[in-house]
Amino acid sequence: MAEPGVLTVVPPGRLDPDRAVARLQDSPLTLARTRRLGRRVLAVESDPAGAANTGIVVGDERVLVFDTRVTPTLGAELAHVVLAATGARPADLIVVNSHFHGDHVFGNGAFRGATILATTSTRAAELREWQRQVAIFERLRPQDAADVRNAAVAPPTIGIGGPARIDLGGVEVELEPFGPAHTEGDLVAHVPDEGVAFVGDLVFNGHWPSMWDADVRGWLAALRRLGGSAAATLVPGHGPTGGQAMVARMADCLRFLVALEHAGGDQAAEVAASPFADLLHPDRVDEGRLRVREQAVPAEASMPPAGFDHQQKERA
Ligand SMILES: [Zn+2]
Repeated sequence: MAEPGVLTVVPPGRLDPDRAVARLQDSPLTLARTRRLGRRVLAVESDPAGAANTGIVVGDERVLVFDTRVTPTLGAELAHVVLAATGARPADLIVVNSHFHGDHVFGNGAFRGATILATTSTRAAELREWQRQVAIFERLRPQDAADVRNAAVAPPTIGIGGPARIDLGGVEVELEPFGPAHTEGDLVAHVPDEGVAFVGDLVFNGHWPSMWDADVRGWLAALRRLGGSAAATLVPGHGPTGGQAMVARMADCLRFLVALEHAGGDQAAEVAASPFADLLHPDRVDEGRLRVREQAVPAEASMPPAGFDHQQKERA
């Protein structure tokens, strides 16, 4: 805090990442909390009732925000906290949408003046599906229906057709398309200097996956790729931050759904006896099985790939 009468001159566009990250750590958020993952990186981990996680990367010149929360009100709170804590101007913000689902993008409208990036297919899907997503989330979140209904259509301003690298000043973020998997256009943001990746809904931690728009084989392939990536710390779309063991468990969960569909036994008993008995949203099992059936995913897809090392998974 400057003393009264002392003029503090800040060169335009120069942020103070250490101070900004400390302030972000102390900023209360509704149904979520910030977790510092590195010098410049924070996860915003939502409660299950707060829906999807988001992420923040603070550069010397620009700030990246990964996903914008489930309602315009929560998005506006996030935008306010980021601008206040970092001193960035709206035009200094780069927002990334991991995919088109409303719980990740309904806060976009609060980031007026920012650049909003996603894959070209996610951009097209937001333009095409926005009102359908509003209807879905009005139903899923009756307590927020009026808020969700107000979600201004704010699709990405730029669509990327392949990998991209963003220089925030002092730190780079690599954007890498991984779809089709959870949706047709999933995007991962990797911060190599900090060993952190924001992976959106490619990973659900502690939840059954939402599979309405899933490509099951593509998703398994995406998880194999993620499992070979350099990031040691991964922020999932839902649930707490984890490591590579979390990615392996997510793949195990998808393979379990494939096996369940092919075995055709007593679903409740199979789930109760599985390592996934405690996951939230067991109502999603039927939807997952339906995708397996519709996409004619073969029984072999329920087997771990050749060379899969369970020992390594357990050590991770
Ligand atoms: Zn999703």
